[in-house]
Amino acid sequence: MSDKIIEKGKIYSIVIEDIGSNGEGVGRIKGITVFVDNGVPGDKLNIKIEVLKKNYAIGRIIEILKPSQDRKSPECPEAELCGGCQIQHIDYIAQLRLKTNMVKAATERIGKLENVLIHDTLGMDIPKQYRNKAQFPVAVMDGKAIVGFYKKGSHEIVNTESCHIQHGINDKITRIFREYMDRHRVSAYDEATGKGLIRHIITKVGFNTGEIMVVVVTNGRELPHGDDLVNDFLTEIPGIKSIIQNINIRKGNKILGNECITLYGKDHIVDYIGKLKFSISPLSFFQVNPTQTDVLYEKALEYAALTGNETVYDIYCGIGTISLFLAQKAKKVYGVEVVDAAIEDAKENARINGINNAEFFVGEAEIVVPKLYKQGLKADVVVVDPPRKGCDEKVLDTIVKMNPERVVYVSCNPATLARDLRYLDDKGYKTVEIQPVDMFPHTTHVEAIILMTKCGSEDKK
Ligand code: SAH
Repeated sequence: MSDKIIEKGKIYSIVIEDIGSNGEGVGRIKGITVFVDNGVPGDKLNIKIEVLKKNYAIGRIIEILKPSQDRKSPECPEAELCGGCQIQHIDYIAQLRLKTNMVKAATERIGKLENVLIHDTLGMDIPKQYRNKAQFPVAVMDGKAIVGFYKKGSHEIVNTESCHIQHGINDKITRIFREYMDRHRVSAYDEATGKGLIRHIITKVGFNTGEIMVVVVTNGRELPHGDDLVNDFLTEIPGIKSIIQNINIRKGNKILGNECITLYGKDHIVDYIGKLKFSISPLSFFQVNPTQTDVLYEKALEYAALTGNETVYDIYCGIGTISLFLAQKAKKVYGVEVVDAAIEDAKENARINGINNAEFFVGEAEIVVPKLYKQGLKADVVVVDPPRKGCDEKVLDTIVKMNPERVVYVSCNPATLARDLRYLDDKGYKTVEIQPVDMFPHTTHVEAIILMTKCGSEDKK
């Protein structure tokens, strides 16, 4: 073998330079890109090549020769196994820097945008216990209940007694649930056979109201000794406002079924974003990091620069959270979203907040937005918050035709973001600034909010 080529099974030393999309370390040996699980940028390592492909290789750490100054021991004892977090072994300030770099790399390489102002990622003061929603799969092993999260790349469950990114009350809820299952020998659902009862436990917490909801997802209608379970929750968890059984008898990995039975209390809980009140039900989507949602939405408001006279589009609006937030300062807001139930929630949320200047449309944005434009609905400001695949070209084209002063783009995927910013740049919308916001500390998710303005617009920031 030539010494230019790396070989499978051999040991090499490597310096980790970056992280990949799954949080793995990335470096190069003899020109080949090598992915190393648990590698931290700055690490000098000895690794063994375990997979060798034409364009890349995968290596396993044999020895840490010199640890990166950003390497740290994860606080969670399960961090290495659990698939929930990917980068707990990297110092939080370094995580934020890496996320800023991911946005920068995408805008330069994919977007070919130069001289764009990219701010440092806005992180959390205390990047812990930030999630208001937890979904725990359940299993029984050797007669004992296991409640936790899936291992990396598998459907095996890590028994999680304490999760560092979930609200602290989850430790109690999962303990009560394990004890209930063990006491009454309740079975857990087996994905392979489709048999067994308990599928998931879901918890939702209103961070601003303290209201707690627990949802028990079952493969069937029965819930043996359900009264006992309800009593245990009520005795030990004072903030509990809603206990729901959700029935899901379908095979496959969809977590929730359509039918909900209220076992105790209300069928929803309430929480606030800013001054706005939101009703949260078992099936509805709600932003999972309330602290950083405030940060993100305040930026959206700042970038939208509303004076009260504007017509605003909120495309991909979900349950209308951004729409209602902006409606407080706009003349009129139109929200567009493909999920019917989300639009029902959006209308209800507008009603409970007494907001009359927001109107919601259900359907695919690529069909609804061009239709609304043809009907003459114009926009001064457009906000988009698309899923990972980014905006459909028809949506972007229609935005350009509507000729708004400003476009505010909320993105959860730097690659499609960069592609869309390029597209809009070519059609006359300049990217003014990019603000990454860390919505999911210790994971590789990158969220950013972007201000674009019409070229030649006086109204530059
Ligand atoms: N802006 C919301 C949610 C954004 S998530 C918030 O801040 O809470 C992206 C949303 O886009 C999801 O609600 C998803 O259902 C919706 N979506 C996905 N594809 C769509 C399409 N083609 N047309 C309209 N909405 C779509």
